[in-house]
Order: sequence, then structure tokens, then C-alpha cells
Amino acid sequence: MILIVDDTPENIISLKKVLEKNGFEVDTASSGEEALKKILNRSYVLIILDVQMPGMDGFEVAETISGFSKAKETAIIFLSAASANVNLITRGYSSGGLDYISKPVDMNVLLLKVKTFYRIYEQSRALNKMQETLREEIEYRKEAERKKDEFISIASHELKTPMTSVKGYIQLLERSIEKNDIETTKARLSKVQNQIEKLNNLIADLLDISKIESGKLKLNKKHFQFDALVEDVLEILQQSHPDVTFIKKGSFEGKIYGDDIRIEQVILNFMTNALKYAPDSNEIHINSRREGDHAYFSVKDFGIGMAEENKDKVFNKFYRIEETSERFQGLGIGLYICKEIIELHQGEIGVNSQPGEGSEFYFTLPLNTEQDENI
Ligand code: ADP
Repeated sequence: MILIVDDTPENIISLKKVLEKNGFEVDTASSGEEALKKILNRSYVLIILDVQMPGMDGFEVAETISGFSKAKETAIIFLSAASANVNLITRGYSSGGLDYISKPVDMNVLLLKVKTFYRIYEQSRALNKMQETLREEIEYRKEAERKKDEFISIASHELKTPMTSVKGYIQLLERSIEKNDIETTKARLSKVQNQIEKLNNLIADLLDISKIESGKLKLNKKHFQFDALVEDVLEILQQSHPDVTFIKKGSFEGKIYGDDIRIEQVILNFMTNALKYAPDSNEIHINSRREGDHAYFSVKDFGIGMAEENKDKVFNKFYRIEETSERFQGLGIGLYICKEIIELHQGEIGVNSQPGEGSEFYFTLPLNTEQDENI
């Protein structure tokens, strides 16, 4: 937008007409004071400024706006009878550019100058934008690098902890074997097994991450009974957590066409998170049902819950809620893998949650594929 400042209405009209005819947007002011008000309110690419005006003259206007942040990139073309004075003002004004045209105005010269200023303005905007994008990209790299470093450090720690336990138990095992103490040997062997299972799960998760990165996480689909799968997971968890009450609500009796091992992995992940992030509760609700053309499954806990802004982020790779990350161990990759698995099945994943009240993680699986045999 161009601002024409001139106290002679005829000048304004003729300048406005020519500029508008050439596709420029034009605003006008008939005094220095009015111009200042306008410049305070919006940014102009260019101001065409009559030097000789009653009241505030063109130079005064230019000097005043040299301090306005809104006019930082604004260029000025003075319309002046004498050219010498223009040089004086250029020193004080560090804007997008200054020029002058002697009166009477040669419209061709004016248009040429206006077009040049516009081109410079557009080029400098494009450059600024490019710079901004580059800066953002660098920041985003930096951020990814930081997250990766943090992940490597947590992952090494998570792998080292069960490894240290295994080492310790093996030393103890040697002693109980020497003593021929079968009962203690059995108990210690089972502890070693637990730790090895932990290591195995961690390594499997890490392998899944690299499969996702390289697009190699593939599904091995077949028809399977969904409810039977849920029952299996519940049975295993009930054995390892005898003090927790798993309340199963509803069921989905039909068959699903999908990768049962991967779906089991998601269900198990929801359940282990429900156990981990609700340390003071001993109840978990499991819902499954048919909802129109898809199966719905959810795991609800009564634990720490989460704030609204974290509900999407928890499915991001390496994301862990900062406030609770010290209190609970983890790598921040389980839900990311779950999301990938569910999305590969064309399903949806999400969470309903209130801080302090608990979370309900859910997924849906579509039933309307040709291969489905839903009963
Ligand atoms: P991890 O538990 O290993 O950190 P996840 O990917 O399973 O990784 O979960 C990501 C983050 O989501 C967790 O660090 C935690 O902050 C949050 N979260 C997951 N499940 C729950 C839950 N049931 N209740 C509250 N927060 C949860």
C-alpha cells in the first residue's frame, strides 16, 4: 500500500489515479498530521510525500516517522521543488529508501521509481522469509539432535539397569548352586528371567523404532478373535498383578482382520502404562464394543492423568510429560509405536484424560474391509 501525502487535492487525485491504474493500492492524507496518524496505525511500503505543506512539512513528517517501528521498511519519495534539501533529511532517516522527484511531477519517472521501490521491498521480504525459514529449520534440527542425545542417554540407562541386575543375580546363583540350595536357585532364576524379559522388550521397542524410520514395519494380517486376544492379555497381567482388579466392560465378539501380535502389543502397552501411571489405584477398566463400522477398545486408569496440551504430544516419538518424567521410568516410544501400528490398520488412536483423575487410552479398528468376516 502506498500513502500519498499532499495538501493539494488535485495532486492527490491525479497521483492516485495513475498509481491505481498501474495496480497499486493507494491511501491518502491531506496533511502531515493526518499522515502521521495513518502511519502509526499501519505499515506502508512507500510514502509519496509533498515537501511543502502548511503546518507540518514533508521533512518534518519524515524525521518523525524515522522513529516509528511501523515505518522501519517504508521508503519515501519526496515531491519537492528543490532537490538540495532532500540530502539533508537522508542522514536522519534510516529507512527502506529515500528518493525525490521535482515538481511538476513526471508521471513516468514517478512510476518507474515506485516500481523499483516495490521490487526492492518484495525482494527484501522474500529474503526475510527465507531467513526465517532457515532459522526455524536450524532450530528444528537442533531440537531433533537434542532429543536424540537425550534418548540415547535414557536408553543406555534403561538397558544398563536390567543388565546390572542380571549380573548380580548370576553371582548369587553361583553361590546358591554351590550350596545346592534348589529353592533359592529357582527364585533367583525367575528374577533373572524377569530382567531378561525387560531387556527383550526394550530391544524389541528399539528395533520397532528403526523399522518405523525405514518404513519396514509391516503387518502380518489374518482373521483373529478380538475378544479372545483381550482375555489372553488380561490373564497374563492378572497373574503378574494379583492385587489389581481388571474390570472388563462389554466385548467385541467378532473377528478382526489384522496383525494379532501387533494389536496385542498395543493392548499390552496401554495396560502397562495404566499400571505404571496409576501407582495409587488398583482398578483398571477395559472396554470393548462394536461402534458402527469399527471396533472400539479402551483402557481406563485412575492415575495421574494429563493436561489437555499433552494429549496429542504423548504419541510423538521420544515425548514424555516433563513434570512426571523424573518419577516414572520410560523411553517415550511405546505410544509412538502403538500409533504407527493402529494407523497401519487404518484405525484411530487417542486419549481422554483429566489431570489427577486418570486417562483412557483408546483405539478403533475398521471393520468394513472386504476381508472382514464380522459376525
Ligand atoms: P514411556 O511410558 O516409556 O515414557 P510411552 O510412549 O508409553 O512412553 O508414553 C509417553 C508418555 O505419555 C509417558 O512418558 C507419560 O508421560 C505419558 N503417559 C502414557 N500413558 C499414560 C497414562 N496412562 N497416564 C498418564 N500419562 C501417561
